[in-house]
Amino acid sequence: MATLGNPSNTIEILQKYQFHFQKKYGQNFLIDTHVLEKIIREAQITKEDCVIEIGPGIGTMTQYLAEQAREVVAIEIDKNLIPILQDTLSAYDNVTIINEDVLKVDINKLAEEKNGGRPIKVVANLPYYITTPIVMGLLESRVPLDSITIMVQKEVADRMQEGPGSKDYGALSLAVQYYAKPEIVANVPPNCFMPRPNVGSAVIRLTCHEKPPVEVKNEKFMFDLIRASFNQRRKTLVNGLGNAASLNLTKEQVAAALESMGLPPAIRGEALSLEQFAELSNLL
Ligand code: SAM
Repeated sequence: MATLGNPSNTIEILQKYQFHFQKKYGQNFLIDTHVLEKIIREAQITKEDCVIEIGPGIGTMTQYLAEQAREVVAIEIDKNLIPILQDTLSAYDNVTIINEDVLKVDINKLAEEKNGGRPIKVVANLPYYITTPIVMGLLESRVPLDSITIMVQKEVADRMQEGPGSKDYGALSLAVQYYAKPEIVANVPPNCFMPRPNVGSAVIRLTCHEKPPVEVKNEKFMFDLIRASFNQRRKTLVNGLGNAASLNLTKEQVAAALESMGLPPAIRGEALSLEQFAELSNLL
């Protein structure tokens, strides 16, 4: 089997199996070897690693992963791609293909079975329509994770990486930064994919923290607080949090907590760092 990752080999496989792209599954296959090599390099994969790939497509990146890793588990929802993957990956005995919706797979169980519960790496050119549930699901599920290296929509990569004061800063930035250190490692234009997506893309590596960078008494409450703060982005925290039904707080309580932190009463959520949200959450 020829290596994929260039337009002509990809077209040959698609024609051989008369494969039709399904828009609903966010299918944009990589056809640029430089981008593939860059992703693999940035994911820092070694022969010790067990890698989970989400959405292998026709197996383009899976071939690279299989060469570098000890073991690869590839989870693909589209049953029409399974015979193709069995073909394109037939040379590798270290790849397991699972035909399932990744959001329904018990990744903890998989990490236990395949890697004895040791931290795994996730590498993927993600289907963009479910980026946030996939990333948040992985981070919140307590799966032992070393890193997540993923292709996402450029705008989403920016949101994950931003800090206070930026228009892209929000609940996703804070959630990602609580669990991991995000670094955008490449920007990828639409012509590196087949078919071309309508948006720019970026590869972001999330290196997971062994321990969160801030101490929080009640994680769930902090994230409820963060969500409420950004639900009403233009409101001051005193008004936004004081009105949020989910929190059961009075405006006076919020104002007093902000004052004890030395923050102005008219401050908005978008100005607070993760450390400040943690402190506010602990105070409230
Ligand atoms: N990895 C391939 C590549 O880079 O060429 C394909 C990437 S494509 C952007 C996304 C892949 O995710 C598609 O193969 C699609 O069928 C698959 N996919 C979409 N939704 C999925 C889900 N819920 N669970 C697992 N795979 C999914």
